[in-house]
Amino acid sequence: MDDCIFCKIIKGEIPSTKVYEDDRVVSFHDISPLAPVHVLTIPKKHIASVLEIGEEDKELIGHLHLVLQKVAKQMGVDESGFRVVTNVGVHGQQTVQHLHYHLLGGRQLQWEA
Ligand code: 5GP
Repeated sequence: MDDCIFCKIIKGEIPSTKVYEDDRVVSFHDISPLAPVHVLTIPKKHIASVLEIGEEDKELIGHLHLVLQKVAKQMGVDESGFRVVTNVGVHGQQTVQHLHYHLLGGRQLQWEA
Protein backbone atom coordinates (compact mmCIF):
# COMPACT_ATOMS: atom_id res chain seq x y z
CA MET A 1 0.00 0.00 0.00
CA ASP A 2 1.73 3.15 -1.25
CA ASP A 3 0.29 5.60 1.29
CA CYS A 4 0.58 3.35 4.37
CA ILE A 5 3.02 4.66 7.01
CA PHE A 6 3.77 1.19 8.33
CA CYS A 7 4.40 -0.22 4.82
CA LYS A 8 6.90 2.62 4.44
CA ILE A 9 8.55 1.65 7.74
CA ILE A 10 8.78 -1.96 6.48
CA LYS A 11 10.45 -0.75 3.27
CA GLY A 12 12.82 1.55 5.22
CA GLU A 13 11.35 4.67 3.60
CA ILE A 14 10.45 6.03 7.05
CA PRO A 15 13.03 5.53 9.80
CA SER A 16 12.15 3.48 12.86
CA THR A 17 13.94 1.86 15.76
CA LYS A 18 13.45 -1.83 15.14
CA VAL A 19 13.77 -4.32 17.97
CA TYR A 20 12.92 -7.44 15.93
CA GLU A 21 12.60 -8.36 12.26
CA ASP A 22 12.19 -11.51 10.22
CA ASP A 23 10.74 -12.29 6.78
CA ARG A 24 7.12 -11.85 7.91
CA VAL A 25 7.01 -9.57 10.96
CA VAL A 26 8.71 -6.44 12.27
CA SER A 27 8.66 -4.82 15.74
CA PHE A 28 9.71 -1.24 16.42
CA HIS A 29 9.42 1.42 19.12
CA ASP A 30 6.27 3.55 18.99
CA ILE A 31 7.10 7.16 18.09
CA SER A 32 4.90 8.47 20.95
CA PRO A 33 5.37 5.96 23.77
CA LEU A 34 2.60 5.65 26.34
CA ALA A 35 4.73 3.54 28.69
CA PRO A 36 8.45 2.89 29.32
CA VAL A 37 8.11 -0.05 26.93
CA HIS A 38 5.86 0.62 23.93
CA VAL A 39 6.64 -1.51 20.91
CA LEU A 40 4.51 -2.04 17.80
CA THR A 41 4.54 -5.42 16.10
CA ILE A 42 3.18 -5.66 12.57
CA PRO A 43 2.92 -8.21 9.77
CA LYS A 44 4.86 -7.23 6.64
CA LYS A 45 1.77 -8.19 4.68
CA HIS A 46 -0.59 -5.21 4.51
CA ILE A 47 -3.68 -6.20 6.50
CA ALA A 48 -5.83 -3.23 7.53
CA SER A 49 -7.01 -4.53 10.92
CA VAL A 50 -8.21 -7.59 12.81
CA LEU A 51 -11.33 -7.43 10.66
CA GLU A 52 -9.29 -8.10 7.52
CA ILE A 53 -7.41 -11.18 8.77
CA GLY A 54 -8.23 -14.09 6.47
CA GLU A 55 -8.08 -17.88 6.78
CA GLU A 56 -4.83 -17.72 4.79
CA ASP A 57 -3.28 -15.50 7.51
CA LYS A 58 -3.77 -17.92 10.42
CA GLU A 59 -0.17 -19.13 10.43
CA LEU A 60 1.15 -15.57 10.10
CA ILE A 61 -0.93 -14.32 13.04
CA GLY A 62 0.16 -17.28 15.18
CA HIS A 63 3.77 -16.52 14.29
CA LEU A 64 3.25 -12.85 15.18
CA HIS A 65 2.10 -13.89 18.66
CA LEU A 66 5.28 -15.90 19.13
CA VAL A 67 7.20 -12.76 18.10
CA LEU A 68 5.26 -10.80 20.77
CA GLN A 69 6.49 -13.35 23.30
CA LYS A 70 10.11 -12.88 22.13
CA VAL A 71 9.82 -9.08 22.18
CA ALA A 72 8.33 -9.11 25.71
CA LYS A 73 11.32 -11.16 26.89
CA GLN A 74 13.79 -9.01 24.96
CA MET A 75 12.32 -5.81 26.48
CA GLY A 76 12.46 -7.38 29.96
CA VAL A 77 8.74 -7.20 30.75
CA ASP A 78 7.84 -10.90 30.62
CA GLU A 79 8.12 -11.32 34.40
CA SER A 80 6.54 -8.03 35.49
CA GLY A 81 3.73 -8.28 32.95
CA PHE A 82 2.59 -6.25 29.99
CA ARG A 83 -0.39 -5.57 27.74
CA VAL A 84 -0.98 -6.40 24.08
CA VAL A 85 -3.58 -4.23 22.38
CA THR A 86 -4.81 -3.87 18.83
CA ASN A 87 -7.22 -1.04 18.10
CA VAL A 88 -9.88 -1.39 15.41
CA GLY A 89 -11.91 1.31 13.70
CA VAL A 90 -13.25 4.62 14.95
CA HIS A 91 -14.46 3.62 18.41
CA GLY A 92 -11.27 1.61 18.89
CA GLN A 93 -9.27 4.77 18.02
CA GLN A 94 -7.26 3.04 15.30
CA THR A 95 -5.20 5.74 13.60
CA VAL A 96 -2.99 3.64 11.31
CA GLN A 97 -4.83 1.29 8.96
CA HIS A 98 -2.21 -1.48 9.01
CA LEU A 99 -2.69 -4.24 11.58
CA HIS A 100 -0.46 -3.57 14.58
CA TYR A 101 -0.19 -4.87 18.12
CA HIS A 102 0.90 -2.46 20.85
CA LEU A 103 3.05 -4.08 23.52
CA LEU A 104 2.95 -1.85 26.61
CA GLY A 105 4.82 -2.37 29.86
CA GLY A 106 7.54 -1.20 32.21
CA ARG A 107 5.09 0.34 34.68
CA GLN A 108 1.86 -0.56 36.44
CA LEU A 109 -0.88 -0.20 33.83
CA GLN A 110 -4.43 0.82 34.61
CA TRP A 111 -7.47 -0.52 32.80
CA GLU A 112 -9.39 2.28 31.15
CA ALA A 113 -11.74 1.33 28.34
P1 5GP B 1 -3.28 3.20 16.73
O1 5GP B 1 -3.66 4.58 17.19
O2 5GP B 1 -3.64 2.99 15.26
O3 5GP B 1 -3.73 2.08 17.59
O4 5GP B 1 -1.71 3.13 16.82
C1 5GP B 1 -0.86 3.75 15.91
C2 5GP B 1 0.44 3.98 16.63
O5 5GP B 1 1.42 4.26 15.67
C3 5GP B 1 0.40 5.18 17.58
O6 5GP B 1 0.71 4.74 18.90
C4 5GP B 1 1.44 6.13 17.02
O7 5GP B 1 2.19 6.79 18.01
C5 5GP B 1 2.31 5.21 16.18
N1 5GP B 1 2.93 5.84 15.04
C6 5GP B 1 2.32 6.65 14.11
N2 5GP B 1 3.20 7.04 13.18
C7 5GP B 1 4.39 6.46 13.51
C8 5GP B 1 5.69 6.49 12.90
O8 5GP B 1 5.95 7.12 11.87
N3 5GP B 1 6.67 5.77 13.53
C9 5GP B 1 6.44 5.06 14.67
N4 5GP B 1 7.47 4.39 15.19
N5 5GP B 1 5.22 5.00 15.26
C10 5GP B 1 4.22 5.69 14.68
